Amino acid sequence: MIGTVERAHARIDLAAIAQNVRRVVEVAGAAQVMAVVKADAYGHGAIACGRTAIRAGATALAVHTVAEAEQLRSHGLTVPMLVMGPLIGPEWARAAAAGVETVAWTPEGVLAATAAGVVGVHLELDSGMGRLGAQPADVAALVEAATGAAANVVGIMTHFATADDRDGEQAGFFREQLVRFRAAAATLQATYPGARIHAANSAATFRDPRAGFDMVRCGIALYGCSPFHEDPSALGLVPAMSVVSYIAMVKTIRSRDSVGYGRTWRAQRGTQVGLVPVGYADGYARALGNNAEVLVNGRRVPVIGAVSMDQLTVDLGPEGTETVGTPVVLLGAQGPERITAEELAERRRTINYEITCGIGQRVPRVHLG
Ligand SMILES: *Cc1c(COP(=O)(O)O)cnc(C)c1O
Repeated sequence: MIGTVERAHARIDLAAIAQNVRRVVEVAGAAQVMAVVKADAYGHGAIACGRTAIRAGATALAVHTVAEAEQLRSHGLTVPMLVMGPLIGPEWARAAAAGVETVAWTPEGVLAATAAGVVGVHLELDSGMGRLGAQPADVAALVEAATGAAANVVGIMTHFATADDRDGEQAGFFREQLVRFRAAAATLQATYPGARIHAANSAATFRDPRAGFDMVRCGIALYGCSPFHEDPSALGLVPAMSVVSYIAMVKTIRSRDSVGYGRTWRAQRGTQVGLVPVGYADGYARALGNNAEVLVNGRRVPVIGAVSMDQLTVDLGPEGTETVGTPVVLLGAQGPERITAEELAERRRTINYEITCGIGQRVPRVHLG
């Protein structure tokens, strides 16, 4: 059982992350693995996760912003690094100074990167995502600009819109994007023989080895969450994050007493209510009120009433033996039970990504392993 010595903390199991990285390396086959550690490694801590990923076999890191890259650099992570998001103004010079690669999808972007002295540019093609990336009609102008500016093109990339949809309505679109990109990338690689081709996120990496090309860009799988929103053990992945708090108050209430804002829950019988000092400010969403369970002493107990900003309440039952100080697991395993990010995501009608990214800054990360 996981104990706690403070209000709440997120325990990050780095051994699990290392195991997940090795699993992705195995699935990726000949393709290299770029570990995506944007958004503080999906809430898991970018520095510790970046280091762990490199030690476990990833060969590069990816982030969204220049500031994220600078943070990693300032902690001694000198490996190849890609900033996948758009840059503006002085960010170009900062990217160059940090020695990180950037993405370009317009002639202006290629010129800005080259003028600033960015170490390497990845040309991004929009094969159907409809977000960043050059559309097919604009690729020729992009290449012309890159050649004219003598840009150091080190990558040719795209991003899939529906890789996670294996058998639903959009399942075919993944293959369509793959076919479009494969043709375009082959043409570009004739111009830039040294550039690495990459397209796959976690879902594409597990779904289709043909999407691997020279490198895969994996995030969610490294953290032990399923890109297909199912039980991660089905892919051989181990969840890395647990969120642990404790019972700060126990009180006996009578039948028909209500608990919390709006009186959204009333006791059907006399029972014991436990208070957990964690709320939506910590990323435990208000939508989980009357709609989730937590683990105490290895058993599931329901979250009752509204989740407040800083507190939530659980029904320990009339026979509950918990006292002040009993650990409470909001996410993760305790004894034989486990609450996964996928479970919380389903209850909140969102995806597992938003669960781990959403754990608030007020919850300290404790890295173990
Ligand atoms: C976030 C991101 C990834 C990683 O996606 P996962 O589904 O977490 O593996 C890959 N590529 C790009 C461009 C991204 O923005």
